[in-house]
Amino acid sequence: MPYFDNNATTPLLSVAEEAFIRASRDHWHNTSSPYRSAAQARNIFDKDREWLAKLLGCPASAIVFNSGATEGNNAIFNFLEKKHSERARVVVSEIEHPSVLEPALAAFPSRVDLLPVLPSGVADLSALPKLLENPDVALVSLMAANNESGVLQPWRKCLQICRQKGIPFHTDASQWLGKMTVEGLGDCDYLTACAHKFGGPKGVGFDIISRSETGFNSQLGGVHEQGHRAGTENLPGIHSMVAALKGLYENLEQTRVDQEARRNAFEKTLCQQVPGTRIIGDQSERLWNTTYAVMPSFANTRWVAQLDKRGFIVSTGSACASGKEGPSHVLAAIGIERSEARRILRISGHWDTSSAAWNGLNAAFEEVWKELNKTKSSAEKTRVISV
Ligand code: PLP
Repeated sequence: MPYFDNNATTPLLSVAEEAFIRASRDHWHNTSSPYRSAAQARNIFDKDREWLAKLLGCPASAIVFNSGATEGNNAIFNFLEKKHSERARVVVSEIEHPSVLEPALAAFPSRVDLLPVLPSGVADLSALPKLLENPDVALVSLMAANNESGVLQPWRKCLQICRQKGIPFHTDASQWLGKMTVEGLGDCDYLTACAHKFGGPKGVGFDIISRSETGFNSQLGGVHEQGHRAGTENLPGIHSMVAALKGLYENLEQTRVDQEARRNAFEKTLCQQVPGTRIIGDQSERLWNTTYAVMPSFANTRWVAQLDKRGFIVSTGSACASGKEGPSHVLAAIGIERSEARRILRISGHWDTSSAAWNGLNAAFEEVWKELNKTKSSAEKTRVISV
């Protein structure tokens, strides 16, 4: 069944599955135990950490493995709360994932300044210098790519501005890693990522923490991760996550070019087939797999159900926002009205999505559009008759 909700989560890549099974079968020992089989497991673990550090361009000691991006984001804000005085403030973009926004607000109550976002979906860095005039700013957090719109954020530029001011910078790279070039990621003072967004297993991810940092301990009760996060390491998960990244970065540029062309062709056809469709962020740089579309009519839940019936899986928005009433905070931030937000669809492809699958999705959209219009006109007819 063609699956177009990869920004919510991805299926396990076969290289990741093999690595997971191999590590679970052959290297299940506790990496801290004092015998040779444990040392072998530790060796694999150390090599994976080194490979990841090299990919990202940071010291191996800056990586803290954890259970994913929600934990990673919480850990960073909780740590900063402990580290700083009660006057400290943070600057956070309006379109961050709730796992950044909520911990930021909990750790720095009424001391969170929101970095606004332009209607293009891009964070407005022209507002940053004014926000940074406050000497109490302890962190700026701007995600690398937005999970709903797919719009790429100017995180490299933001990092540069923060550097000039001596202010630490955090990026949530959950949607970026595995899809875009890694250059500069390892320079961030703090970074968050998770494996299930790029074909790795669920429940595993990592933070990069500032090189000079001491006292970062997101979980107590052990000396794992150099004391930064206690708990027996998830070696199969970590090995599998690293295997997924190795596979993806071997051929990423070609994937990006091919998939972007397929996604763009899909959007062009969609806008012709269903007149009045609007693509959010299409004037901005976006992830090559994402389409965020406002349909001209009919509730998004009806589109999702009708497409699902035809074997195509798309989403009404972010996995976290779907099921909630009202527009997501991302849509509100970019000025999408409530009535439009009910018609929004997020379509997110995979590294391997074929042209046939994208074409099939176009054909399904055309059919559903006709079907929904038929239902509408027969409902209208019924109304006329009954008047
Ligand atoms: N940050 C972003 C940008 C995301 O898209 C997600 C996933 O929904 C998360 C954080 C949370 O990740 P996890 O499911 O690993 O906790």
